[in-house]
Amino acid sequence: MKGQSCQSVSCCGNVAWLGGFAAPDFATLDELAVKLICLDSGFAAPLRQMGRVLGERIAREQGESVLTLDAALSALISACGLEGAIESRFLRRNADAALLQVTGCAKAVGWRIANVGRTVCGFDAGLFEGLLSGVTGEAISVEETSCLGLGHPSCEFVIRRQQAIDRTDERERMQHGHH
Ligand SMILES: [Zn+2]
Repeated sequence: MKGQSCQSVSCCGNVAWLGGFAAPDFATLDELAVKLICLDSGFAAPLRQMGRVLGERIAREQGESVLTLDAALSALISACGLEGAIESRFLRRNADAALLQVTGCAKAVGWRIANVGRTVCGFDAGLFEGLLSGVTGEAISVEETSCLGLGHPSCEFVIRRQQAIDRTDERERMQHGHH
């Protein structure tokens, strides 16, 4: 884990646990997930599912209190143990949806992620989805729309409340009905 500073959760004596893993093991798993998906697209679906299960486990560790999506988004990066390991910011954000940009992953994993023509961070998308759905008690969908694996300069994740998606569909249906 070169590139990780002492601000990361892994090296300040008090080792954090994430979904049943010690934080350094969790970081290794996250790193290997990217490597596996870069290697073979067949790993994408199972690793997304693994990320989702881990996200749900972390959500359960957080306790009983139900968070709004907004509060959950504010805590997302630290809850995933990624604080200090990557840089992230919200390009857009409202009560129903957000666009999260992540940079510095290549530095964190210590190798250059090549353009393999597909998104390679499905494990993280699943992790975010499981965690956000778990802590809000709502169906939250997370899709990666930009990725280093597609040759983009950063990775971007579209985060949406499922209800909001349903409402949009309904609006579209109604609009079509009127014309
Ligand atoms: Zn990515």
